[in-house]
Amino acid sequence: MQTNFSPEQLADPATARSNRILRTCVHCGFCTATCPTYQVLGDELDSPRGRIYLMKDMLESGRPADAKTVKHIDRCLSCLACMTTCPSGVHYMHLVDHARAYIERTYRRPPAERALRATLAAVLPYPARFRLALRGAALGRPFAGLMPAQLKAMLAMAPKALPPSDGLDGGRVFPAEGPRVRRVALLAGCAQRVLDPGINAATIRLLTRHGCEVVVAAGAGCCGALTHHMGKERESHASAAANIRAWIAEADGQGLDAIVINTSGCGTTVKDYGWMFAGDPLEPQAQRISAMTRDLSELMSEVGLREPVAGLPKLTVGYHAACSLQHGQQIRIEPKALLAAAGFAVVEPRDSHLCCGSAGTYNLMQPEIATELRKRKVATLEEKRPDLIAAGNIGCIVQIGSGTALPAVHTAELLDWATGGPKPPALAA
Ligand code: SF4
Ligand code: SF4
Repeated sequence: MQTNFSPEQLADPATARSNRILRTCVHCGFCTATCPTYQVLGDELDSPRGRIYLMKDMLESGRPADAKTVKHIDRCLSCLACMTTCPSGVHYMHLVDHARAYIERTYRRPPAERALRATLAAVLPYPARFRLALRGAALGRPFAGLMPAQLKAMLAMAPKALPPSDGLDGGRVFPAEGPRVRRVALLAGCAQRVLDPGINAATIRLLTRHGCEVVVAAGAGCCGALTHHMGKERESHASAAANIRAWIAEADGQGLDAIVINTSGCGTTVKDYGWMFAGDPLEPQAQRISAMTRDLSELMSEVGLREPVAGLPKLTVGYHAACSLQHGQQIRIEPKALLAAAGFAVVEPRDSHLCCGSAGTYNLMQPEIATELRKRKVATLEEKRPDLIAAGNIGCIVQIGSGTALPAVHTAELLDWATGGPKPPALAA
């Protein structure tokens, strides 16, 4: 694609990087075939190619973002299916991240939208605030019928009963069982910890049982993805910098073999810290952290899963590949191979490359499109008649779980159960 940035514009490193990305696009349109929003809405401007043109025009013009461009960029899930499909290697993720930051800087949203985004950014990354908000949601549930679509969507996602706190604040170390094979830092995260602390508990049991000492580093918290995807660079960089410092201190202190992440949306972001901090004094440390980061399924494949315990029921798992795992990190084989090694039969929906509509806060900000995508995903999963659904990302688990009667669990909970841990609570009924 031809671009026409001025030399002054190209002096800005972020614009120079986006210029290089834009120039790799050959307008072939292959990406439209796998774009979920194009499939739902049928509008070229809601396809990757259409959005690339909009972003190019917006960045080249140097003018504030306009309402039309914002509408179509907001509708993008950042699912990155287009990156998997693109034969030309267009790095859509970095381009749309830049566009979102540009929009945040130059576009004044309507007051209700501004308030919603500010609230999400001020609440979700902070477990204590999020817990408080969920308590409030329980009180607001009887009035859901009177609320606008976005608030209704939030209430629908809130758990009926709030689980107890996980006690992972302030740094913890969980010793390896038997000889230590790895020392790893677990990203305890933010929203996942509150919505389902059982996922981290299962992950820690699984890792320690397999010889990993697990550290939850003091000072590490939200990875920054939630605010990053809203274009709020200052907030996302502050979260990321706190994590980088906490993990570097741990690595330079007692040593770390890996940073393990069990929420694939966060994993994609942490693996991109090196890029996020390009040109920043923190860049070398950010690069180091990105290089050390592993999805839980990657680390467990390296360590090797022990033989499953005897007497487990023969269950068929409908595996949902989170976009951040299959497209963002290109991890497709490992979770399924681990589930099979744990004794489960694994089936996948025929639209396994497509997003379920969760996409971070997307299902809260674009509830209509998200609901349509969930309906499609639940239908193709149920078509395979699984006993339960598993995914490696809390957002997908909540999103799909709210649209089906089948239990939806994290892959870590199944691997933990199969190797000696408790039965996942969602399967207990
Ligand atoms: S598939 Fe790649 S090169 Fe083709 S239009 Fe899409 S982004 Fe551009
Ligand atoms: S990230 Fe997903 S929704 Fe956005 S343009 Fe690419 S395929 Fe479409």
